[in-house]
Amino acid sequence: MTISTYMSQRKKAPTGFLKEVARVVGVDHVSERESDLIAFSLDYWMYAIGRSQHGELPALPGAVISPASSEEVQAILRCANRYGVPVTPFAGGSGVLGGAIPLNGSVIINLQRMNRLISVDDTSLVAELEAGILGVNLERELNYRGYSMGNIPQSLYCSTLGGWISTRAAGQFSTKYGKIEDMVLGMDVVLPDGSPLHIRPVPRRSVGPSLKDLFLGADGTLGIVTSAVVSVHPLPAATAKQSYVFDSIETALEAVRLILRTDSKPAVIRIFDHEESHGYFDDIGRRVTIIFLSEGDPEFVELQRKVVDRIAEANGGQDWGEVPVYTWLRKRFDIGLGPTAMRLGVVADTIEVTALFKDAAVLYEDMIKSMKAVESSILVSGHFSHFYREGACLYMTFAGLPGDKYQYYKDMWAAAMAATSRNNGSISHHHGIGYWRRQFMQHEMGASGIDMLRKIKSALDPNSILNRGKLIEDGN
Ligand SMILES: Cc1cc2nc3c(=O)[nH]c(=O)nc-3n(C[C@H](O)[C@H](O)[C@H](O)COP(=O)(O)OP(=O)(O)OC[C@H]3O[C@@H](n4cnc5c(N)ncnc54)[C@H](O)[C@@H]3O)c2cc1C
Repeated sequence: MTISTYMSQRKKAPTGFLKEVARVVGVDHVSERESDLIAFSLDYWMYAIGRSQHGELPALPGAVISPASSEEVQAILRCANRYGVPVTPFAGGSGVLGGAIPLNGSVIINLQRMNRLISVDDTSLVAELEAGILGVNLERELNYRGYSMGNIPQSLYCSTLGGWISTRAAGQFSTKYGKIEDMVLGMDVVLPDGSPLHIRPVPRRSVGPSLKDLFLGADGTLGIVTSAVVSVHPLPAATAKQSYVFDSIETALEAVRLILRTDSKPAVIRIFDHEESHGYFDDIGRRVTIIFLSEGDPEFVELQRKVVDRIAEANGGQDWGEVPVYTWLRKRFDIGLGPTAMRLGVVADTIEVTALFKDAAVLYEDMIKSMKAVESSILVSGHFSHFYREGACLYMTFAGLPGDKYQYYKDMWAAAMAATSRNNGSISHHHGIGYWRRQFMQHEMGASGIDMLRKIKSALDPNSILNRGKLIEDGN
């Protein structure tokens, strides 16, 4: 389909709605320009990106509205309820599961103007930020003042604080600093009916079920996060970089498991399988590589370096020095060849899941076997990252050159999700659910879990205004 056909067929937002909203945010911040509608038509869901390269868009929004404050978001949502206009929050647009795609003729609420650092409290080590701030700007603002939030996803340059909250994201340094849910102490949210909710920042509370947790990973279906208070850390005074080469995934996992049992917390731990070690590092060949990066107070870092070294070597690891860590640091924000390869007909994607240590190695083997068995696969590889004392995240990459692209894509995901469930894993570690992964929610939470989510959604959003059709299937 051509862009002009898309434009002529798109569901326009009601004129009265757009006029009212323009009075709230200013006419310059309500757009129906073709370039804006296309720019906000898709996020980083690889299948949709692949189709868009062949002229197919998943959807076009009714309009793009860019508010600058919580009050403006409140007014837009009140108005959306009055006119029955569905809205989709859009932040960095780096989500990889279609969560920010404007289905059902939704209008986009673009959060990128809400991008300020509000304050830093050095006594409590917390900072308050608007939710639309890009990760890279958040870190620059904090680094300049001597702090880091410690959440450094590969998408640092194209994702936002609100997006991290709404997908339950995890950064590369998560083994020390935790995941987004460990970092957020409080937040301001606008509920689907336009009413504001303030969750006061405190280290912990015991006041019934945690309201904060409702919005972590909700994909913008239960409220729009407008600001958050997060924990920060003084910039580290020392770092240690170590790497070890192993013969198998099992022995590498075992070494990491034993290191974490000592309560050591390297910020970065990554186990690259034979395929990824070969592709990533120049001189390691087809073996398994672990990199460790520890940081913080020099005495702690030195102690940790010794513990890592002792346990890695005692468990068959061959010391490979600092170079692989530098290689990883240099390449860690590369987005890979996926989009380029897809122009040439390849179908590629990544899938991250999580499991306990007792299941991790078997899950890896099962994933590799089941995904390679899908016809037309040319690459299936994996690495472990984001470790806990109890287990880890397994991150798979696949690519194939199929005749029927959609069938291949579906079969690869189905094979990966079935292997995860067979091995007691969870279907997502940090990319979330969005649009595409909704179909596998049954694997994760069963009928009663889905029913519970549906009831929460219809209680909070009876008109189904907010990001309709994401997180759970709603028949649309
Ligand atoms: C190259 C690349 C690398 C990546 N690396 C990582 C990684 O290391 N770790 C990781 O966890 N993820 C990673 N991701 C995935 C992605 O960056 C994350 O999911 C990120 O959290 C999305 O943030 P965003 O601001 O781009 O959100 P968007 O894509 O704009 O939105 C994501 C979802 O959140 C909703 N939303 C956004 N902002 C708000 C808000 N303020 N209030 C309510 N709802 C909202 C949207 O409606 C949508 O459902 C990567 C993606 C890419 C493309």
